[in-house]
Parts: sequence; C-alpha cells; structure tokens
Amino acid sequence: MTLEAEALRLDETDPLPTLRAEFHVPTTPVGEAAYFAGNSLGLQPRAVADRLREELDDWARHGVEGHTRAARPWISYHELLREPAARLVGALPHEVVAMNSLTVNLHLMMASFYRPSGDRTRIVIEDSAFPSDSYAVESQAIHHGLDPAATVVRLKPRPGEENLRTEDVAGLLEREGHRVALVMLGGVNYLTGQLMDLPAITKAGRAAGAVVGWDLAHAAGNVPLRLHDWDVDFAAWCSYKYLNSGPGAVAGCFVHERHTGDPSVPKLAGWWGTDPTTRFRMGPRFSPPASADAWQLSNPPILAMAPVLASLEIFDRVGMDALRAKSERLTAYLSARLAPGAEIITPADPSARGSQLSLRVKDAGGLVRRLEETAGVVADAREPDVLRLAPAPLYTTFHDCHRAAEALAPLL
Ligand SMILES: *Cc1c(COP(=O)(O)O)cnc(C)c1O
Repeated sequence: MTLEAEALRLDETDPLPTLRAEFHVPTTPVGEAAYFAGNSLGLQPRAVADRLREELDDWARHGVEGHTRAARPWISYHELLREPAARLVGALPHEVVAMNSLTVNLHLMMASFYRPSGDRTRIVIEDSAFPSDSYAVESQAIHHGLDPAATVVRLKPRPGEENLRTEDVAGLLEREGHRVALVMLGGVNYLTGQLMDLPAITKAGRAAGAVVGWDLAHAAGNVPLRLHDWDVDFAAWCSYKYLNSGPGAVAGCFVHERHTGDPSVPKLAGWWGTDPTTRFRMGPRFSPPASADAWQLSNPPILAMAPVLASLEIFDRVGMDALRAKSERLTAYLSARLAPGAEIITPADPSARGSQLSLRVKDAGGLVRRLEETAGVVADAREPDVLRLAPAPLYTTFHDCHRAAEALAPLL
C-alpha cells in the first residue's frame, strides 16, 4: 500500500469519522487546503451562518423587544453557553461565563485574584508565554506600584531542553512559594504545544499559598479539562482557536466555586454582573449572584456569541474524550511521518502535548508560504524559527497529515 492509500484507509476506518463536511475549508492555489492552523484560527462551522441570521432576523423583526421576544432572548443569551462551556472545561455550570476576550478576562481575574501583599508579590509565568500574557502580568505589577522586573518570574526550560519539567515548576514553588502571589501559565504552550500537568502544578501552587490561574487559549477544545476537580482558582480561554468560533470570538472564563460566593473577593463591576432579577430596577447598589456571572461587565454581544453557541454544540455532540483520542491518533501519525527529517520541539509523550507539533526550522515564514503555494498546506510560522502544525481533529484528516509530511520532506 502506498503511504497515501494508507492515510486514506486511516481516515475511512477511524472510530471518529471526520466532521470536515460541517466546516468551510479554505481553498488554496492548488485546491482545498490541508488546514493545520486551527490553533491560530479554527475553521468556520457551516452552522454559524444560520445562527447569525436568526439573530439578525430577530433584531430586524423585534428591535429592542428582541431582548425578551427573540427566539433566544438576548437578556439571558449568555446562559445558553453556560452548560456546554462547563462541560468543555470540566466545571460546574455556575463556575463559567462567556464574556469579553481572553486578555480582558485575564485582567478581570487578576483584578480579583492578584492581591500582592508583604513579601508575597511574585507572578510566575513561563518564559515562552504568549506576549499578551507577559504584557498583562507586567502591567498588573505596575498597577500595584511594583517593579515588574522583580515581580514577574519567568520559568525557563533546563539548558538544552525545549520544555518545562513539572518537577522544576513544583520545585520552584516549594522553594520560593512564600513569595508567590499568583501562578498563571498556559495550559498548552502556544509555541511548543507542550501540555502542562495542570493538576500537579495547580496543587503545588496552592500548597505554596499562591493563587493558580490558567490561560487555556490553546487547551480549551484541544484537551479534556477538569478545572473544578483540579481546584484551579481561575481560568480564561479564547474561542477562536480550537473552538472555531471566529476571529475575536467571545471568550470564556472560569472562577472556582470557592470564590464565586465569597463576597470578600473584590471585583471590577458592571451592570451585567448584578443579580438579573433586580438589574432593571436600575438601582445604584451592586448585588452580584454567587456565580461567575458576577464578573460580567456589559450586556453581551449577541452577534459575536451566536457562533460560539453553534460551535459548542459540535463539541457537545462529539465529546472531548472522543476528540482527544482522535487528536492523539492524528498527532502520532503526523509525528511518525515527520520524524525522519524534522526537529520536533513538542514533547514526544502524547500525554504531554495536544493537537500540535512545533518544528524548529530555518526561515519559518518562507517555509509556510511555500507549503501553501506548492501543496495547499496551511501551517503557521512563529518567527524566526518555529513552524506550527495543528491537526485539529474535527476537520483535519490523516490524508491532510500525509500531504503535510510529503510537502515538508523536501523543504527541510
Ligand atoms: C491566542 C492567545 C492570546 C490572545 O489573546 P486575545 O486577548 O484573545 O487577543 C492570549 N494568550 C495566549 C496564551 C494565546 O494563545
């Protein structure tokens, strides 16, 4: 059997057949894309357009009365996202809310949970954190009158290694934990694709007396999560990567139950965070419910939430466990096909990575252009030298992986 025939056979016999037909797959100069950029912007579910049209129609038909008369009343629209989002991240329904965008949510969470005092001021992030996260924590330090250089601790892999070791993170928290106010790492690192040991690091951070929050931008919709059981303090994620909800889509936020009902937690408040049963009495007093909804500021962007709802329905239907199993099969296949010529910096251990392989290459940008032009393979570059390939299991196929491997081999 040729390699191509084998890839096609894997697609035909996989226990979770591809849902590619439910998505719009971009076209390239050489035909339909083999799309590996779902960790950057997920593809559009075909169901999104109908969902959006329904809200546009209700707005046209009802005007302001759509708040209560729309088929999905806008006043409570965000509540439609609650249960599917809770299932996605392993939370209780009242621990999650869809709102804002990711960096905004990280700031709102830090406004509540980063409370430096005495010697306990440090924020621990990973040295390869996404830039927005670095900016966010530095600005939080400055906001509290602290020196960011002395406040932000950046975790680096051991010399000669690409990825962080859990024991090193836990070791630092054991030694220096009394100075740490907040641990805020990416659940899956955007650059290397490393899946962190969330339960172990959460445990170590909390044992040290720190607050532990996770940026799940690359983890939500990619790997199964159990935020409630893992005792995570807070988390936030965007919805436009693995969650396929469109550019700048409304993000998600998790606050553990032990904080949602605690009135001593300070919040930046807005009218959508107050008790919905008294909100429209328009009184001056903020009276938040004992749920993550209390962190909402503004009335939600319905047109931006409709795609999230359509997308979460797909995740609900398939289930994260089945999706994760397929992601492991696809990623293992791609890894085996690339291994002979490629320097893969993503962990080789399937339990320490999600649906992503990062390759160390020369001229990542040039390589990405050539892959698309010559083979219709859409990857992405993180300059100068990292090429990322994400076989997103809803719509990326074994045959796509075959195409990527064939196209890359002569270029590496
Ligand atoms: C994608 C990503 C972001 C982007 O933040 P936005 O506020 O949604 O623009 C932030 N942090 C991480 C780790 C990301 O991967």
